[in-house]
Amino acid sequence: MAEAKIIDGKAIAERLRAQVAKKVGWLKANHNLTPGLAVVLVGEDPASQVYVRNKGLATEAAGMNSFTHWLPATASEQELLELIARLNADPAVSGFLVQMPLPKQINPDHIIAAIDPNKDADGFHLINVGRLATGVGGGMVPCTPRGCIILAKTVRPDLSGLDAVVIGRSNIVGKPVAQMLIAESCTVTVAHSRTKDLVGVVRRADLVIAAVGRPRMIKGDWIKPGATVIDVGINRVDEGGKSRLVGDVDFERAKAVAGAITPVPGGVGPMTIACLIENALNACAAQNGVVLPKD
Ligand code: NAD
Repeated sequence: MAEAKIIDGKAIAERLRAQVAKKVGWLKANHNLTPGLAVVLVGEDPASQVYVRNKGLATEAAGMNSFTHWLPATASEQELLELIARLNADPAVSGFLVQMPLPKQINPDHIIAAIDPNKDADGFHLINVGRLATGVGGGMVPCTPRGCIILAKTVRPDLSGLDAVVIGRSNIVGKPVAQMLIAESCTVTVAHSRTKDLVGVVRRADLVIAAVGRPRMIKGDWIKPGATVIDVGINRVDEGGKSRLVGDVDFERAKAVAGAITPVPGGVGPMTIACLIENALNACAAQNGVVLPKD
């Protein structure tokens, strides 16, 4: 059997970012509107600082206004809620997010609940979760799950009827991606740490979405021949004295069996920011009653 097609998330994300930039140009030219994306960082977590910087750079590269707000690690929940109230009211801010994780003294549920659902660039607000779960639609959708669906559709444009397995049930990846797959008419199994016979569950899947956070946990011989494998995991491992990133899937072995597979890095990762700036663009259009042109 031929080796799997490698799904080039970097190239697909670049195309999406270019489409977003083109539509931002159209919004400016035709409606004199510039979308704005704000990112709030509380504290100095080094990984979060990198994410926040990359989000800002991508926002600017798409021609949108980027705003970064930094609060010290000692900030109170009230201080953060006050900043959120200002961002909710600021017409220059089409969408914003609060980078997670937050320091212990701040309850993330209170923070997400305070964000205007129409500006909720991460799609984590309960209103947006409900819009996705019920199929009402029209909400802001979480970025990493949306990226997974876009990548899967590059190799299988019609996901309808496929047996899909999502490994992981987090609110930011597992559950929303499962909802999106139901909306695509897949038959969806959500596996997690208590799943019995995970190997058997994965073996019958035409589409595997791995969002566990355990390096190379999904073995090559678990994969059904020809299946599409989307690996969300980002795990840092030390090998031969070198630090490198690997996914939740044993990529080298799985690619000999799968029909198509995403690499780590260069698969799902780049899609998250591309989908984030798309959310900010869509939010700006929706808030101003503008229908964006098709691609
Ligand atoms: P999480 O820790 O919140 O959830 C992990 C899930 O895996 C849980 O639902 C748990 O039940 C399940 N799990 C744990 N051990 C298991 C086992 N042995 N068998 C089956 N299921 C098991 O993680 P998350 O936030 O959903 O992230 C998952 C991975 O995706 C992480 O590596 C994270 O870094 C990565 N991630 C990547 C992006 C991106 O932009 N590419 C975005 C978010 C998360």
